[in-house]
This record gives sequence, structure tokens and C-alpha cells, in this order.
Amino acid sequence: MVNEKFKDVKFNFPKDPMNTEFIKIWQETIEREDFKNLKKQVLKEEFEAYMNELIARDKPMKPEYISLLTNPPQPRVICGNCYGGYLERTFNFCHQCGQKLDWDSGDE
Ligand SMILES: [Zn+2]
Repeated sequence: MVNEKFKDVKFNFPKDPMNTEFIKIWQETIEREDFKNLKKQVLKEEFEAYMNELIARDKPMKPEYISLLTNPPQPRVICGNCYGGYLERTFNFCHQCGQKLDWDSGDE
């Protein structure tokens, strides 16, 4: 779970999510003053735990395919990390939590 102290630091969702790597956005984020100030306020361990979470989020994860319980059922694709987001196939990562997505290694 993301450290509570970091939850207000938002990365800027890119205009072109298809061609933007999530880790690049975070590199921009950690250069920002608000992020640098926060880093000074937290323990080294807290900061490292948070960065490890970000790295885990940049490992591609398969999305989950679900059906909404409507009649007829409606197929939806959701994020395997936060179970939210109603993802589009053009997304490189979840727009809710930033999890990088893996669309291409089959639907087993
Ligand atoms: Zn997500």
C-alpha cells in the first residue's frame, strides 16, 4: 500500500499515454519541488518503501477481464492492481493507480 504521506503527490497524466513510459513520468515527478520537500520530511525507510512500490508498479501486469452483472452482461477490462479504471487497450498503464499494463502476453 502506498505510504499515506505520499498520497497527495500526483504524477501528471501524460497527453500521450500510448507512447509514454510510466517511469519517465515518475522521474519528472521526483524532480519537482513538492516531491523533494516531501522526501526531506519522511524517514529514509519510508521513502525507499515507496520507491519500491513504484518500481513494482512499472512491471507490466495483465489486466483483468470481467463482465458487469447486467442483462446482457457487459465486458469490461479493469486494472489487476487496483481493480478499477475501466481500461482501454490503448493505455500503457492504469490511469487510477499507475500500474503498467501487459496487453500482449495472452489471455490465459
Ligand atoms: Zn490501477
